[in-house]
Amino acid sequence: MAGVSYPYPYEAKVSQTLFDRASLVTPGGVNSPVRAFRAVGGTPRFMVSGTGPYLTDADGREYVDLVCSWGPMILGHAHPAVVEAIQAAVARGTSFGTPGEGEVALAEEIVGRIEPVEQVRLVSSGTEATMSAIRLARGFTGRAKVVKFAGCYHGHVDALLAAAGSGLATFALPDTPGVTGAQAGDTIVLPYNDLDSVRAAFAAHPGEIACVITEAAPGNMGVVTPAEGFNQGLADLCRENGALYISDEVMTGFRTSRAGWYGVDGVKPDLMTFGKVMGGGFPAAAFGGRADVMGYLAPAGPVYQAGTLSGNPVATAAGLAQLRLLDGAAYEKVDAVSAQIQGLVTDALAKEGVAHRLQTASNMFSVFFTEDEVKNYDDAKKQESFRFNGFFHSMLSQGVYLPPSAFESWFVSTAHDEQAVERIAAALPAAARAAAQATPEGTA
Ligand code: PLP
Repeated sequence: MAGVSYPYPYEAKVSQTLFDRASLVTPGGVNSPVRAFRAVGGTPRFMVSGTGPYLTDADGREYVDLVCSWGPMILGHAHPAVVEAIQAAVARGTSFGTPGEGEVALAEEIVGRIEPVEQVRLVSSGTEATMSAIRLARGFTGRAKVVKFAGCYHGHVDALLAAAGSGLATFALPDTPGVTGAQAGDTIVLPYNDLDSVRAAFAAHPGEIACVITEAAPGNMGVVTPAEGFNQGLADLCRENGALYISDEVMTGFRTSRAGWYGVDGVKPDLMTFGKVMGGGFPAAAFGGRADVMGYLAPAGPVYQAGTLSGNPVATAAGLAQLRLLDGAAYEKVDAVSAQIQGLVTDALAKEGVAHRLQTASNMFSVFFTEDEVKNYDDAKKQESFRFNGFFHSMLSQGVYLPPSAFESWFVSTAHDEQAVERIAAALPAAARAAAQATPEGTA
């Protein structure tokens, strides 16, 4: 960020050289905007390897990773059993364009874990999953309108890029050019955690709303827990009004419990979307739900959806290997280490008198630099995000890799052991001081 100086000068020479090269051949030097560090300033770190809870960058510096590839790496990096499954799959061939047993096994694993999912279709990204789920909901109901919530991100689906949190929050873009009025015209954006506004939308558009889509527990405006009864209220309102309730579990799925956020609140959606953890670090995602709705998908039904690499044998092998290792003990471990780190962060910030709120959705958590509870996107935007920048760079300089934005969830894994936690604990006091000293102009 131009004009901002940080009290922790540190060099990332090789990363900077790579970033310069990348910027010549790739827009902004990255293949997904938040990776460019624009919100926090400085040189994005180019990573060369990952083992367990650690990442190593191109300059040879090691970091405790609290991003975990934005969620997928719940067993840590290069878990031996997952690597072995991938190697075995690769040796058998990388893509057939035919059905294969791995896809069946992964679908069975998903259906076996999550009761509302009677049938599932595999795709390659979370964006594809939400896009297809919405098309299916529109095809099934014969209606056009979609309700979404400000601050919830469902991938870069044209119709869902209104008030979409994280990447867009980071760049303060209320909307994106390239999405036409027609594409966004059937999208109704409402404030999160506000059932009255959903009720009012159904009243204002009788028989027109195909579906309500929500993050099961939002992590894309920072972590905002659904208020007691909110998700159930959405499910009830959808049922009463003939619309489908779509729970986006791309981030929470297979992470917040064995059965994702559904395993936490038990609210039954009509359709659900998944990604991240279920791909074991490969591009694999899915949408699924009621068999009568899923039966509308081609070739069983009239709603078209397809993919050359859908159900790819290497991706399904990676996902299946990862899911099979995620038993009750694994979730206990992730929950426990997450709670431990949450406590350390709160203590360090409290000690420096930094106003903050640590919010959680099971083992997902994030820190808002504000005193007030964050219930929706407007609340999230009120935080003093400049404090996060000082905090972030101090942690980075001490070998802890946080999400490079104040509007993102932090993620941990079963591999985050005592040694990794000690490194985080050692880095926090200086980072909390940097947050305390930060000013809107930078950390002077
Ligand atoms: N839905 C949610 C809740 C997400 O968090 C994301 C990505 O972060 C997506 C959808 C889009 O997934 P992908 O990046 O795989 O397209």
